[in-house]
Amino acid sequence: MTEHDPPNGAPSQIKCSHCGQLKAPSEFNRERRRPSGRRTECRDCQRAYNNRFRKQKPLYNIWNLMFQRCYNEGNPGYRFYGARGIRVCQKWHEYEAFVADMSPRPSPKHSIDRIDGNGDYSPENCRWALQQEQTLNLRSNRNIEIEGIIRPLAEWARLNGIPKSTVEARLYRYGWDAKAAVTTPVRAWGGKA
Ligand SMILES: [Zn+2]
Repeated sequence: MTEHDPPNGAPSQIKCSHCGQLKAPSEFNRERRRPSGRRTECRDCQRAYNNRFRKQKPLYNIWNLMFQRCYNEGNPGYRFYGARGIRVCQKWHEYEAFVADMSPRPSPKHSIDRIDGNGDYSPENCRWALQQEQTLNLRSNRNIEIEGIIRPLAEWARLNGIPKSTVEARLYRYGWDAKAAVTTPVRAWGGKA
């Protein structure tokens, strides 16, 4: 592409390394890793490749994001996963093993769900679920029965004016019984939970 560079250094046209066409720099995606700051394949070629790739590896994004959440501290989901000690089992570090265990995905609306919210990503602890089912599985949405009335934890907390996190801590960290956890007022002087 150097022969097309104007004197000021900004190329007016770039030759795509895939289709060979000369195209404006805006037809190429930015790429930090390359010294030119641009990919050498044009956007069309890149897109075509991605589509092909997606068809060949339909679970790849899901697999990749699972690792991002567990191991990439820069990922917004990290604090709910990696920071809480949630890992991907050794077997699934190999993409093919993950595919063998989890194929097929029932629909694109299904995402991977851990049955035990504190457990790792592993064949024993994972299933495909719709987002709604997953939400119901979250701790704060876990149903709690008190004197025959079943309500989600979050609702019990709200009805009694107690922070959800306090109710969770009482139940799961301090082992209180359900009724005490959702009905005991928070002590203003800062007693434990
Ligand atoms: Zn191209």
